[in-house]
Amino acid sequence: MPALELKREAENRSMARDYYDVIGISKDSSAAEIKKAYRKLAMKFHPDQNPDDPSAEEKFKELGEAYEVLSNEDKRAAYDRYGHDAFKAGGRGGSGFGGGGGFHDPMDIFSQVFGGAFGGGGGGFEDLFGGGGGRGKSRDGRKRGSDLRYNLEITLEEAAKGTTKELELEKFVPCKTCDSKGSKGAGGAKTCSTCAGHGIVEQRMEGFGGIFRKQVTCPDCDGSGQEISNPCPDCGGQGRREEEEGIHIKIPAGVDHGTRLRSSGNGDAGTRGGSAGDLHIVLHLKRHDVFERRAEDLFCEVPISFGTATLGGELKVPTLEGPASIKIPIGTQGGTIFRLRNRGVRDIGSGRKGDLHVEVRVEVPTKLDSEQKEKLREFTESIGEENSPMHEGFLEKAKRFFNL
Ligand SMILES: [Zn+2]
Ligand SMILES: [Zn+2]
Repeated sequence: MPALELKREAENRSMARDYYDVIGISKDSSAAEIKKAYRKLAMKFHPDQNPDDPSAEEKFKELGEAYEVLSNEDKRAAYDRYGHDAFKAGGRGGSGFGGGGGFHDPMDIFSQVFGGAFGGGGGGFEDLFGGGGGRGKSRDGRKRGSDLRYNLEITLEEAAKGTTKELELEKFVPCKTCDSKGSKGAGGAKTCSTCAGHGIVEQRMEGFGGIFRKQVTCPDCDGSGQEISNPCPDCGGQGRREEEEGIHIKIPAGVDHGTRLRSSGNGDAGTRGGSAGDLHIVLHLKRHDVFERRAEDLFCEVPISFGTATLGGELKVPTLEGPASIKIPIGTQGGTIFRLRNRGVRDIGSGRKGDLHVEVRVEVPTKLDSEQKEKLREFTESIGEENSPMHEGFLEKAKRFFNL
């Protein structure tokens, strides 16, 4: 896992519980999995179910907040990138997400998810959050395809310079046999017999305090009110089928860990010729052997010999654009940082090019023969204490500890 990601996760933990942990799902869970997990826990911790347990209410609130963020694609992306900072007033990604604790009432969220069956919200059973809401399902059974999310790992060089990647995706593609129509030959569509064309059916459900009726999308026509009289044998009437597809994606120069790219129309194909969803690519940076990236700046450590540190000299250092050299002044201490301007990464957002920070590490020789050791002893005696500025300063500060 890249160092940057580790850092962000550590920051998140210090402020509030990780939303994925709260709902008990993994980072790559689908919208349906998130909803399912939320439903289960929300039932368990609902205050009506736990009148004597104040901690349940706290958990219920926390669940609502986590669900509100993770069920919305944009908020989820902001959370993946910036953690809880994304929703704090003045936080990095804070704009537009209701800074300063601007979350909905957990009861409202609950009612929305449970489709108003518990006395709140509207009666919609689509995702009310997460952009699923008015997703066009027309009377002829056309439905927009789902958006897909792809986590793509790239190297630091690829992020800095841009690249093209081929992704292999398992997804719905238009059915060629029926030309996305869903029907074989001139069969066409007829009124669904299960719901008599209404697109919804009544279902009896068990909930708090008894059994009640609720209207759900007709399972046979998927809400369209129509069924195909002579379905295409290759797609079962859907007008689309699941296949592996290779997609070329251009990654622009200057992207970073957590950058999200949208490839319009490269998500799932819609049903019966409905429009396709989008493909969201979330970038992850691989750990680099030499450089660590923080925003536009790069950092690296380069070893130098005791001799070079003492006498000064040229030091060859790596940069993303090839080798460069820096002048090491006489008497350079280990830990000194040299800055090479404009040798960082040009950020796609700000357009600013960062710097490269080179920290030198003075290396101690480990394989001296007896003659070399003898020379070093002579040399050490010859230079005396006044030639060790750091040691002198240290003695001054630590003197009372030596005299205890
Ligand atoms: Zn077909
Ligand atoms: Zn139906």
